[in-house]
Amino acid sequence: MANDRSKSLFEKAKQFIPGGVNSPVRAFRAVGGNPLFMKSAKGAYLYDEDGNTYIDLINSWGPMILGHAHPSVEEAVKAALVGSPSFGAPTAREVEMAELICSIMPSVEKVRMVNSGTEATMSAIRVARGYTGRDKIIKMEGCYHGHGDSFLIAAGSGALTFGTPDSPGVTKGTAKDTLIAPFNSLDAVDKLITENKNEIAAIILEPVVGNMGCVPPQPGYLQGLRSLCDKHSIVLIFDEVMTGFRLAPGGAQELYGVKPDLSTMGKIIGGGLPVGAYGGRKEIMDYISPAGPIYQAGTLSGNPLAMAAGMAMLKHLQANPGIYQHINQITTKLVDGLRRQIAAAGLKYTINQVGSMFTLFFTETVVTDFDTAKTSDTQKFAAYFQSMLAQGIYMAPSQYEAMFISNAISNDEVNAILKASEEALRHTR
Ligand code: PLP
Repeated sequence: MANDRSKSLFEKAKQFIPGGVNSPVRAFRAVGGNPLFMKSAKGAYLYDEDGNTYIDLINSWGPMILGHAHPSVEEAVKAALVGSPSFGAPTAREVEMAELICSIMPSVEKVRMVNSGTEATMSAIRVARGYTGRDKIIKMEGCYHGHGDSFLIAAGSGALTFGTPDSPGVTKGTAKDTLIAPFNSLDAVDKLITENKNEIAAIILEPVVGNMGCVPPQPGYLQGLRSLCDKHSIVLIFDEVMTGFRLAPGGAQELYGVKPDLSTMGKIIGGGLPVGAYGGRKEIMDYISPAGPIYQAGTLSGNPLAMAAGMAMLKHLQANPGIYQHINQITTKLVDGLRRQIAAAGLKYTINQVGSMFTLFFTETVVTDFDTAKTSDTQKFAAYFQSMLAQGIYMAPSQYEAMFISNAISNDEVNAILKASEEALRHTR
């Protein structure tokens, strides 16, 4: 496929944007080659600047659960644009959005809108610290919670891909308050709590990890964390930025039946516009200014366009619950097909799938945490990725990411992906 225009855009971008991109993983460094510059998208398909067409398995890293340019979202945004895109004053839409989120997420009684997942997680730990009067947090190795200083320690996603899970620029003072445990190990968390008695404000995790590739919680893990938090008066935070409104309407907390004290949200609730939110028990949320003393604010928080896009998406999902069945079934069909092919090709692999999220790891080790995720052969992944891309399949450009299936993917796309994969496996050596 020709990509001359993407190449020249990337060269120009590098002159004016660090690394040529506004978010590192987009640069394709882990897989090699030139990033593609996208021009438009519809349903399951992306169209790049050179006129190539791709089946999209990233879906903007999660938000586009309905596929691209869904009419209900487009119309809602157009309607919201009339008047003004921002008032800096309360609007009815924000009230409606808050009520909607509280009605969908099982543990959320009050919610505050922000502008990104990063803001949501940063704010949630501040609230947990202010509420408990404690400083330390426990984070799981390989989980990614955005680029707030406290989280760039043993972080997943782009930080892991680029070999900087601990970022320069995070002060030692901040880093010392983030304690790390392997995902899926209750013993490690128990030990940290014992060693730091009455000092832990919060435990934060992705209840199903997407950011070291897809890694599900082992049976009893989330329940075990809930019990430890109850026993030691620690605030349990589920980062549902990826999983919320995707794995079930009420996210992983609905799927696994475990209620955190606070939840962070993003992606789908913005319908493709920049949005985040954090919410939870009233008693904790009422510590936030102006109800309480913990300060957090935002010029564009609750932005009318973003609220309109997000609400249109959430309402469409609510009115069409069959979407969840479809995306889960079609993902299983794809994953089953991939398993058959890769086994037949004699390659070592593990596929983790939860609902419409999955990752193909090139390792035979069962992937349950950061160490096992890192046993993957990233060169094989890069070879597979490049062949898929050349055949018009747009996968996440790193081994350590999840793929997200949208409702626009049908049997036709699954067949096309499997056909491309059959060929790609011939080049995966
Ligand atoms: N939390 C999780 C689980 C994420 O996957 C991400 C981003 O991918 C974030 C937080 C940060 O969200 P944002 O990129 O909107 O700041």
